[in-house]
Amino acid sequence: MTQNSELKMHIPYGRQHINDADIQAVVETLQSDFLTQGPKVAQFEEAFASYVGAKYAVAVSNGTAALHLCTLALGVGQGSRVITTPITFVASANCVRYCGGEVEFADIDPETALLNVEKVRQLVESKPKGHYAGIIPVDFAGNPVNLEAFRNLADEHELWLIEDAAHSPGGYFTDSRGERQHCGNGRYADLAIFSFHPVKHIATGEGGMVTTNDEALYKKLLLYRTHGITRDTELLEENHGGWYMEMQELGYNYRIPDMLCALGLSQLQRADAGLARRRGIAKVYDEAFAAVQGIETLATAAEALQGGETGHAYHLYVIKVADRKGLYNFLREHGIYAQVHYIPAHTMPYYRGLGYSKGDFPEAESYYAACLSLPMYPTLTQQEQEFVIGKVKEFVGA
Ligand SMILES: *Cc1c(COP(=O)(O)O)cnc(C)c1O
Repeated sequence: MTQNSELKMHIPYGRQHINDADIQAVVETLQSDFLTQGPKVAQFEEAFASYVGAKYAVAVSNGTAALHLCTLALGVGQGSRVITTPITFVASANCVRYCGGEVEFADIDPETALLNVEKVRQLVESKPKGHYAGIIPVDFAGNPVNLEAFRNLADEHELWLIEDAAHSPGGYFTDSRGERQHCGNGRYADLAIFSFHPVKHIATGEGGMVTTNDEALYKKLLLYRTHGITRDTELLEENHGGWYMEMQELGYNYRIPDMLCALGLSQLQRADAGLARRRGIAKVYDEAFAAVQGIETLATAAEALQGGETGHAYHLYVIKVADRKGLYNFLREHGIYAQVHYIPAHTMPYYRGLGYSKGDFPEAESYYAACLSLPMYPTLTQQEQEFVIGKVKEFVGA
């Protein structure tokens, strides 16, 4: 590689892929009668529900709104205590605060960086029944959490489960019966959420989805998505005529426009191809770093449990290195924009203000000290990936 072509490199850690079909789909919607709340919303919901294998899907304005609708539908309020992981995007925790609930973090499993179910069990079992309301596990990096283990714990203690599947559309884990359980299919979690932010698998700019198999929760999500207003004649307390509607709860405007659902529908058709490419990229990284001293990769949940099979969705490809800051800066000098996921949520000033401190979750903090997410997106070329691998190896002296 010449000095010149190296200088032109600009390789982010993630990026969207928009093709002509996507553009056409948006243009057609712009020329239709509906910019929002038209036919594309329901079509996107139906296609997405079938993609993940859930009964119901509710499309919303972003993944954070999706999380908020979940905590609202589950009745989180003042005094509700909800457990989640510190290694996640802060929205996974914030949705509890929006409803006035308390966030309780539990530490991660160092091999996978996923919320450690045994740590959650210790927390739950140290308190009387009813102390906690629910758990929000996150399929961090696209690595599916073993939701069956969380469900068993949740059932013993009457807790609900929200799966934050923002990183894992198309991912799956294998349950104890040997059945593949796709992320967001509603088999073990009460609700699951997805995000369509540009770095995620399916990009609509802003956008999100909630999936569930629970009809009662589904109806609540619909109500809270649109101001708490219903026109459903079966739900109305009165009926004054054709114009009549009722605001029955304090809801929000968390709707997503038709244009974006058209984009999402178009992107969804390439989701499997994108996922296959992500897995291919991960395999190349895995092989390149397997024998390199000084670089550690994360285990899949199945590897960590030494059983089953995991269909990792590879939103991120994370490595751990001792001199993370050095590597981050070195890669930037060469046009490679690696990123850190995540700064532990409990160390954010806001959560420290609620009583958390550095040192509270040692596994999460030592993970944070070493982690770096390398470029991972379907349009990353083989040549670009080789360049990234070469620079990483050069830095660690391999
Ligand atoms: C992206 C993301 C969200 C929030 O999604 P937005 O669409 O950006 O609001 C929630 N949880 C996780 C783990 C995420 O990565």
